[in-house]
Amino acid sequence: MTAAPAPIQCDLLVVGGGINGTGIARDAVGRGLSTVLCEAGDLARATSSASSKLIHGGLRYLEYYEFRLVREALSEREVLLRAAPHIIWPLRFVLPHNPGLRPAWMIRLGLFLYDHLGGRKLLPASEGVRLRRHRYGKGTKAALDKAFVYSDCWVQDARLVVLNALDAQERGAQILTHTRLIHAERIGGRWEATLERADGTRLTVSAAAIANAAGPWVSDVLNERLGRKTDKRVRLIKGSHIVVPKLHAGDQAFILQNADRRIVFVIPYEGDYSLIGTTDHDYQGDPAQVAITPEETDYLCAIANAHFEKQISAADVVWSYSGVRPLYDDAAANASAVTRDYTLDLDAPAGAAPLLSVFGGKITTYRCLALEAVDDLLTALGKPVSAGLGRNWTADAPLPGGDIPNADFNGFLRQLEAEYPFLPQGLARRYARAYGTRSRRMLGPAQSFDDLGADLGDGVYEAELRYLRAVEWAQTAEDVLWRRSKLGLHVSARTQMAVVGWFKGSAQALSA
Ligand SMILES: Cc1cc2nc3c(=O)[nH]c(=O)nc-3n(C[C@H](O)[C@H](O)[C@H](O)COP(=O)(O)OP(=O)(O)OC[C@H]3O[C@@H](n4cnc5c(N)ncnc54)[C@H](O)[C@@H]3O)c2cc1C
Repeated sequence: MTAAPAPIQCDLLVVGGGINGTGIARDAVGRGLSTVLCEAGDLARATSSASSKLIHGGLRYLEYYEFRLVREALSEREVLLRAAPHIIWPLRFVLPHNPGLRPAWMIRLGLFLYDHLGGRKLLPASEGVRLRRHRYGKGTKAALDKAFVYSDCWVQDARLVVLNALDAQERGAQILTHTRLIHAERIGGRWEATLERADGTRLTVSAAAIANAAGPWVSDVLNERLGRKTDKRVRLIKGSHIVVPKLHAGDQAFILQNADRRIVFVIPYEGDYSLIGTTDHDYQGDPAQVAITPEETDYLCAIANAHFEKQISAADVVWSYSGVRPLYDDAAANASAVTRDYTLDLDAPAGAAPLLSVFGGKITTYRCLALEAVDDLLTALGKPVSAGLGRNWTADAPLPGGDIPNADFNGFLRQLEAEYPFLPQGLARRYARAYGTRSRRMLGPAQSFDDLGADLGDGVYEAELRYLRAVEWAQTAEDVLWRRSKLGLHVSARTQMAVVGWFKGSAQALSA
């Protein structure tokens, strides 16, 4: 009989590979905690790839007096923009005025606060425009004229998660994907945890502390896996998006007001498309099974149709996705009013190993959440919060590929095109946007397409798949086509099948 492998020893076990888990793992390892992260599926498989993909202050949260959240979120925009200028970029938002809904003075006041609360340096200030005379009005209904314009940022959400995991790993963390926490208990002042891999094999981890960042499963991990009780509860709110052929020209996004007082974004997406969302509905089902309903599709189409000349229906939808917001339950009456702020619950009785659970939060504020979470954990472990690289080290540390001089993406793109002159413009841009300076690692010394390996069609070459598998934990075609990229929207069914075949072949080759 072979002896069971010895437990992995670490300071911190992070449960969940969404933005909050990977953000905590990155911050923790930088502050000197030996860290293991386990994710039940692929990185960003749940809420963190189903967002509206905005790094934003959250203009509408001002209506709920969420000044703390808005201030923090506004100032994070430029911090994150500097850390990852390849996957994050500024976006102008056009808010058409509807006199029957919010009065103009209220919007002006909101935008004044928006411009001044967050210490804005890079992003331009808000302004008023007349849509009938402005290029932003092209494609909008003739009845719309007065509008307000302000700035926020856009992020490739799933890539932000992967880059946090990658940075954590490169600094010494162990990232275990397709590995689920099934049980943990406190024994002798530590957590003894049992993890199960997708193939059913098990491993044990002995950790000084656990961070429960399981998003919509935060209560499942607390109650079922750890046998802990807390008075804090998560409220699951479902949100869905649809993708349709482009509704308007230009690179501006729209924020549309609806009669139910909700707002819906129409965002330029992946070149040829518009992304429309989101909805807000209480959700009781299995978060892994969340899907858009015909009513949500109709609701989103109707709001777009009220504002754009081009009319759409369910038949125009080329892709949709849904996610579940794991919000902190503040007993608000309706789903849109539940706080988007985060709450950290620390369970650290004297002499017992600490457990920290994350409720709520936004992609925008993940770095601040991680910083506070690691402060709490270090304090509970009796260590100084300034350990390792120091408190707030992530404020000026680029994410992998984000070390672009002066955060000048266009300058970097020109340089990459010069280094790899055989790449057509569109492909060089796609690589630069996905991998930033890591494009050089992905492409290596390639001097022609022959050096990129097999051509799977539509600009997908083996070198990229090899990189995604070896460096970014991709294991299936879906991981590549719909999470680490949105190539699924652009490439033919034949290319998609070729990618499926490539992963099957590489899995067989690995197991041979
Ligand atoms: C429709 C919608 C739109 C949004 N838009 C925005 C936006 O524009 N901007 C913004 O800033 N925020 C937005 N958000 C909020 C943001 O997406 C979430 O706050 C964030 O993604 C939550 O991340 P998380 O890491 O907590 O959870 P998740 O991303 O869900 O990650 C939790 C992970 O834990 C794993 N897990 C669960 N149980 C276990 C276990 N037992 N063992 C191991 N792993 C486990 C899961 O597999 C999952 O991957 C939006 C959310 C939604 C739903």
